[in-house]
Amino acid sequence: MSNEMVLPKVTKEFLKEHGIRIKKRLGQNFLIDEGILNRIVEVADLGKDDIVIEIGPGMGTLTKKLAQEVKKVLAIEIDENLVKLLKETLAPFKNIEIIHADILKINLKKLVTRLSGYPVTRFKKQADWQTGRLADKVKVVANLPYYITTPIIIHLLKAREILSKIVIMVQKEVGRRMVAKPRTKDYGALSLLVQYYTKPQITIKVPRSAFLPEPEVDSCVVNLEVLEKPAVEVKDEELFFKVVRAAFEQRRKALKNALSRTRDLRLSKKKVLEILEKADIKPLRRGETLSLEEFARLSNLLTK
Ligand code: SAM
Repeated sequence: MSNEMVLPKVTKEFLKEHGIRIKKRLGQNFLIDEGILNRIVEVADLGKDDIVIEIGPGMGTLTKKLAQEVKKVLAIEIDENLVKLLKETLAPFKNIEIIHADILKINLKKLVTRLSGYPVTRFKKQADWQTGRLADKVKVVANLPYYITTPIIIHLLKAREILSKIVIMVQKEVGRRMVAKPRTKDYGALSLLVQYYTKPQITIKVPRSAFLPEPEVDSCVVNLEVLEKPAVEVKDEELFFKVVRAAFEQRRKALKNALSRTRDLRLSKKKVLEILEKADIKPLRRGETLSLEEFARLSNLLTK
């Protein structure tokens, strides 16, 4: 059976024929540009032993391409109608597992453990992952539903021990925020979160015309190489991210004010000035000028 017979081109007629109503609220914009689909697969740099998690397979176009390259694809889709269709159209691909679920409610470590045959205990110690066979074998490749981009990134980063690479299509502006450097308008809490755990790179620019229906924004594909250990040394990650959030909540304000005005940190202005001096950071600087290293230094000084 040829691939074209298994999965015909996604067109308006195809959707109508299969009774699929596009659900905008689920971020359903199907990627129909063959060239871009192929480039995503290239960026993912797949191998025959790889296990890939795909979020939101939709009509299965990318899923099928991934399945041809890897050992197993775990495709997680929330829309019941699409799940039914995928189970039919992708039936010839024995290495695709269609999972009907909300990605944000799935425990990815447990899922991969169950399906890979590895015992859960392997996931308990990070060291096992750093040297273990699976560590460099689980990749995420997905054209994300944009309404939950940030929650999905946070969810994936929580399962980072089992991931080596996250290749995701996101809104162009979100991609820019992920790779942004200090002193730019795009630099913010998302830049720091992503750059703390991964090495991000924008790899493909994607025009809105590559989708059906066309979204109102342009897109890009970001490749996040998950780091073996975070980019900087932080004593208390929760506190580090609290400092980051506080600095950007009032991004136009000088740090001495931004940090002392947030309830999350409960710091007096005197304490803030003292810490800033120790960290060798001028109190009038704004949060948006601080590098990852400077945020780490600051939060480490606050750690008791
Ligand atoms: N992968 C397909 C493609 O490239 O054409 C579809 C991508 S579309 C942008 C996003 C997909 O994510 C849709 O199929 C949508 O139903 C699904 N989705 C939305 N929210 C989801 C969630 N919380 N969990 C899993 N899938 C979700």
